[in-house]
Amino acid sequence: MIRTVSERFLELEEWKSLFPSLTALFSTKNGGTGTGAFQSLNTGLHVQDDEHTVIQNRRLLAQAEGTELNMWIFADQVHGKRVVRVNRHHAGMGAESYEKSVRAADGLWTFDKGIRLSLGFADCVPLYFVEQDTGFIGVAHAGWKGSVSNIGAEMISQARDAGVRPEKISVLIGPSIGACCYIVDNHVIHHITQPDMQNVYQEVSDGQYKLDLPLYNKQLLVQAGVKEENVILSGLCTSCEDTLFFSHRRDQGKTGRMSAVIGWKEN
Ligand SMILES: [Zn+2]
Repeated sequence: MIRTVSERFLELEEWKSLFPSLTALFSTKNGGTGTGAFQSLNTGLHVQDDEHTVIQNRRLLAQAEGTELNMWIFADQVHGKRVVRVNRHHAGMGAESYEKSVRAADGLWTFDKGIRLSLGFADCVPLYFVEQDTGFIGVAHAGWKGSVSNIGAEMISQARDAGVRPEKISVLIGPSIGACCYIVDNHVIHHITQPDMQNVYQEVSDGQYKLDLPLYNKQLLVQAGVKEENVILSGLCTSCEDTLFFSHRRDQGKTGRMSAVIGWKEN
């Protein structure tokens, strides 16, 4: 069950008891200082909102979460599958300047405590990763391009190479556009090449398909070695939940970004 912590944040109830020293949050569009299409808690620096407003919003988020913004790490997201290991020396990267964010990365992971890994979303699928024994945590951004290129498996692969056992990794698939609101054409469906994925899309009219990106990512993660019972789906659609979230599709491209944030609380 996802629940509201404050007007600015949602969190996953199950993970709170399983991982008491973990922060894993998804921001809402509320409680910020932005106006117009970006009303009000836009946290994306690259969407033509006022830069100072966005930085102010990020500070509000960090404060609500209990850290300083200079402990947060942001990425320059390009709908790719590149996943980057970061550490405490990267703290603050991209927090106040898009140019200083981690270059061309759609996934961040670490073993370090104290820092916060943050990616921006407005319909794409946020994937949160945690393995308590090693302290492995990560976050990834999976739109349809990141999903068909299997960024989730890339994260699992890097974690495995660093000594983390995939069957011990837990994954939260956060709020994203749901199959209810996501119609794509043949071009997208043709990119789905992994085995046993016929159940993630359904033809609704000639050449038009409903695509279930959260389910698709869940199945990719299970194929990559994550246990099915260790994957939790939020069940929230960013397009349907219009009082909570910005939605790129619903808002026709001009909209803000929510943040998916993960980190260990202690320093
Ligand atoms: Zn929906």
